[in-house]
Amino acid sequence: MTELKNAEPVEGDRLVRALALDATVRVVGVCSTGVAQRLATMHEASPLGAVALSRVATGALLMGALMKGREQIGLQVKGNGPLGGLYAVADAHGVVRVSIDNAQAEVPLRRDGRVDLPAGVGFGRMMVTKTLGLKEPYTGVTPIVSGEIADDLTTYFLESEQQPTALALAERLDASGIIVAGGWLIQALPGADDAALSRLEARIAQAPPLSRSLAQGATPEAIIGDLFGGDPVDILETYPVRVHCPCERERFEGVLVSLGPAELIDMAETQPSTELVCHFCNTRYFFSGDELRALAADA
Ligand code: ZN
Repeated sequence: MTELKNAEPVEGDRLVRALALDATVRVVGVCSTGVAQRLATMHEASPLGAVALSRVATGALLMGALMKGREQIGLQVKGNGPLGGLYAVADAHGVVRVSIDNAQAEVPLRRDGRVDLPAGVGFGRMMVTKTLGLKEPYTGVTPIVSGEIADDLTTYFLESEQQPTALALAERLDASGIIVAGGWLIQALPGADDAALSRLEARIAQAPPLSRSLAQGATPEAIIGDLFGGDPVDILETYPVRVHCPCERERFEGVLVSLGPAELIDMAETQPSTELVCHFCNTRYFFSGDELRALAADA
């Protein structure tokens, strides 16, 4: 998976940051089809696992777009369902990686034939960690209220950040897996007009389902435009989004060294080679007995 974990963005995978309603509303839209497909491949995910990875990655990319510079967002979803936990890390430049406990988990489809993500996620907590440069990291914990991820994120924004937020995450699947994925987020800024926000809310309620717009090939700009009707939207920034895992062999050597010489010698003598796996990208790193002994000598 080495190529996939550092591959170029897939064409069409883009995030758009914008302002609307006289700069009193912040908007982010993203098409993340390639991100979702690559994560599903990396984790050899079931359809349920692929949807979970897609929602968490897309949600983290939207949240990352609210950050600046080298700040990062960690989004952890820890439910008691068969998927186990998911953990996404995204930055302010469209780079994301996601780990998942049980990517192959499956649950019965819903009566309408769709993947039952809430049954896969279960109940538990959502934890958001913001790494803010030199400042202390900020952590907010809220309960999983639906397991669809979008509703859980709006609950997080309201309860943990006191920030009313409208947010949608969607994808569409066929027999081959995810065919489109994306999302949008809208937040009112201080000074937003209540009447204008009410009109926006009504329009959002009447907008076509996001999964349908994505399936029709709508760009992030078009999806955002639909939400604001004729109102002008001021695009601030557009950038590609992609999966990237910064793992490398040296990091895993460090993990081994931290076990101490006695443990390393014991491993070298009891097994022909030791395998360490990166949980974000599934890259496997092998260490021979001789390599372990050399690390033990360094330790
Ligand atoms: Zn990795």
